[in-house]
Amino acid sequence: SSYLKLLEENRLLYNQVQDLKGNIRVYCRVRPFLPKQSDRRSTVEHIGENGNIVIVDHNKQGKDARKIFAFNKVFGENTTQSEIFFDTQPLIRSVLDGYNVCVFAYGQTGSGKTYTMSGPDITAEETWGVNYRALNDLFEISQSRQGIISYEVSVQMIEIYNEQVRDLLVVDGSNRRLDIRNYSQLNGLNIPDASLVAVKCTKDVLELMKVGQGNRVVGATVLNERSSRSHSVLTIHVQGKELASGSKLRGCLHLVDLAGSERVDKSEATGDRLKEAQHINRSLSALGDVISALAQKSSHIPYRNSKLTQVLQDSLGGQAKTLMFVHLNPEANAFGETISTLKFAERVASIELGAAQVNK
Ligand code: ADP
Repeated sequence: SSYLKLLEENRLLYNQVQDLKGNIRVYCRVRPFLPKQSDRRSTVEHIGENGNIVIVDHNKQGKDARKIFAFNKVFGENTTQSEIFFDTQPLIRSVLDGYNVCVFAYGQTGSGKTYTMSGPDITAEETWGVNYRALNDLFEISQSRQGIISYEVSVQMIEIYNEQVRDLLVVDGSNRRLDIRNYSQLNGLNIPDASLVAVKCTKDVLELMKVGQGNRVVGATVLNERSSRSHSVLTIHVQGKELASGSKLRGCLHLVDLAGSERVDKSEATGDRLKEAQHINRSLSALGDVISALAQKSSHIPYRNSKLTQVLQDSLGGQAKTLMFVHLNPEANAFGETISTLKFAERVASIELGAAQVNK
């Protein structure tokens, strides 16, 4: 069919773009339809090899109705949690070799961010998301290197809500605000002043995450009554010492569950909700600006435009590696949000394969 031919034509260009992309990867994941949904028309018409996805607007006809996007990988609705992790694992493991890694979950509320990062059911191991699998993997590998390298692992967990950074690991639940103005001068990998807790195993981290989740700010929106309106950052710090040489390394893994990317008007927001939405929109576009400036090897990287990019400055750019999961809700009525999500992702990935090529 015509779009298969189109995919083929774009392949060469796509491969060239891939080579330029360096340390930024973008994976797209489409969630399945939920049992209750009656309108089963999907906006996802085709997922090709080499990370292509064709989106269709059911309100339009012919060629105008279709847009093609390309990413490092696209995972369809039947992809399992372990398949997702398989393609994430090498990146995660590089933390133990002293790299800094950021994994982001991006998408509108209800598109599957929490599913990818944490999973739907902590008691069912096969449904575990990237977070738990990553931790298990890090602890397992560090165990297997015992006698060669000794590792110390510690954890921080913060939240950014309305451009305020809060420590989520304060046990009394007081939601302590952190001042990060001097952060860049400290030039360390920790977020200064945020609680830094040593951990020995995945179970320790799960306990801490429970504390952290309990301290997150949640608000009500029309889209999702208790959707999270803040970004949460779980940071795993690893310090290794090679026993023979005494040489040291440090790496860190940031697992970032971003606030929902839906546009303000959809939530019919006023007052506090409107303010939240504006902060979210602004910080997500600041993140997009930073990643796309990095992908284009721009001389100025605008880290200072949001708290999120300030906090992650040492782990975005340089030798650091970034993986962004962009999530799609396949429902026809989510078409508008789906397109804006894909446009964000495309900008981040610096890939230009939009409607222009499709309509040639
Ligand atoms: P978000 O964190 O983006 O708001 P959720 O992760 O809560 O979205 O997902 C919304 C709903 O869709 C949940 O009921 C979740 O279990 C379901 N869901 C999301 N992704 C998948 C998936 N890949 N497979 C099955 N169900 C999913």
